[in-house]
Amino acid sequence: MTDPVHRPDPPERMCPSTPAANATLFLGMITPAGRVAYVTPPLPAEVALAQAGTDTPVESRYRLAGPCVTAKCGFWTGEHCGLGERLAASYRETVGPTEADLPRCAIRRTCRWYAEQGAAACAACSHVVTDAR
Ligand code: SF4
Repeated sequence: MTDPVHRPDPPERMCPSTPAANATLFLGMITPAGRVAYVTPPLPAEVALAQAGTDTPVESRYRLAGPCVTAKCGFWTGEHCGLGERLAASYRETVGPTEADLPRCAIRRTCRWYAEQGAAACAACSHVVTDAR
């Protein structure tokens, strides 16, 4: 088992699974198979959201990123993102991804989950559909 990766915080960390109301970047589409098809280079969230329609919640079809709101989020433990920790833990045991296996996503340099959990977060990330309730 690999230890989580701890890196110093840059001025702003990005949440890789944020509701539309907090989104600044379009990270990717949810495919019919329930996996994320990442988009690079990044697209501003407002461009993607303008074409999203309203038939189903946009978070069930798009993965959106935005500034991590730390203590204003229910997943914040006081020190780190508890959701990223939980997701990465399940994949760290079963997959053991390496840096070479990581998906091409637009926010790795500033991603909260990657900064705290390393490559295991990315293995989990492509299976996440944001719960915007
Ligand atoms: S693939 Fe990795 S770096 Fe990119 S958003 Fe997901 S967890 Fe963050």
